[in-house]
Amino acid sequence: MSEFDTIFYRDAYCREFDSVVKTCTPFKKKYAVELEDTAFYPEGGGQPGDTGTLNDQKVEDTRKSDGRIIHIVSDPITEGTPVHGVIDWERRFDHMVMHTGEHMVSGLIHQTFGYDNVGFHMGEDAVTIDFNGSMDWDACMRVEAKANELVRRNLPVSAGIPDEKELARMDYRSKKELHGEVRIVTVPEADVCACCGTHLKSTGEIGYVKLISLANHRDGVRIEMLAGKRAEEFMRKVMDQNLRISHLLSARVLETSDAVERLLNGYQNAKRSLRIAAEESMKEKIASLVPGERYYIAFAPNADHEMLRYFANAILQKTGAESAAAFSEEDGECRYVIVSETVDLRKEIRGLNQELNGRGGGSPQLVQGVFRADSDTVYETVNALFQDPGK
Ligand SMILES: [Zn+2]
Repeated sequence: MSEFDTIFYRDAYCREFDSVVKTCTPFKKKYAVELEDTAFYPEGGGQPGDTGTLNDQKVEDTRKSDGRIIHIVSDPITEGTPVHGVIDWERRFDHMVMHTGEHMVSGLIHQTFGYDNVGFHMGEDAVTIDFNGSMDWDACMRVEAKANELVRRNLPVSAGIPDEKELARMDYRSKKELHGEVRIVTVPEADVCACCGTHLKSTGEIGYVKLISLANHRDGVRIEMLAGKRAEEFMRKVMDQNLRISHLLSARVLETSDAVERLLNGYQNAKRSLRIAAEESMKEKIASLVPGERYYIAFAPNADHEMLRYFANAILQKTGAESAAAFSEEDGECRYVIVSETVDLRKEIRGLNQELNGRGGGSPQLVQGVFRADSDTVYETVNALFQDPGK
């Protein structure tokens, strides 16, 4: 019997069928049931195996094992038992939609760029397709537009097993060198491909093809795609996100990215102004320092670590002190930079971090990080250290 003589190849749309149990064997604490004939598609070629029921018992998965199709169930079914099988149709139809959509995308990319589909996986969230060449997002969008044009034209998808002569004349995509019977799936104007999956009858049933991501992968790219209902649901979520941004920024729906850009520019400007003000206040503080102390502890609002480093070092230069600590308090945290010519700070910082619930480190002469404590506690603790280092 031809491996292609099963119900799901004769009629990919068969949802319910009757058959007889051929064998039933233990399988990893469950049972593997083989039937005389089946409409359950076994995992293969990137398409997951079908689930559903056999005589009201759940079929958890369908796989291929030593050329046989096995249905994984919890309880054994005696050989020779007549069974009624029902496919989880919503799930399987989704697979057919995604799979047929994938043919169009892979075929069109092959046609346009000559790249091969070198990896295909139908995941929970999306289908991923790997190609052995690089392309950019604009090219992806052109492929998507062409695919959707063919969807709208509702072209017939066909699958068949050509004879040897016919096959020899055909130009078709294939992942590996094939021998014996080869099943060829054709999507007009998009794809001719050797494939053993289940497909739709016509491109219109795909509804919608959506490419959602492009990333470099090995020597080529990985594209994530969705089709049909999944593509529609994804785009609804994208629309929801955009509507929220539109409301938050009082921007038209198609002008949200401009509005975000303006907001970011404003934010950068505000940050710059804050930094300039912080630098000015720091310079004033440095100018007003009176030399004579062994150490100084100073606070500078809105200063980042780079500014605090500058501040602490400037204090040493201006006053000739041995040690200096500069802090900036924000949201209950104190950024710190401590410098010293006499205290081994790398040794002391572990104790300080422990005491002040902080993190960070550095060299014996300079440490920096963040203490999760208020400025009074930080001041007292660091003051105690400078007064009596090594205690
Ligand atoms: Zn296929």
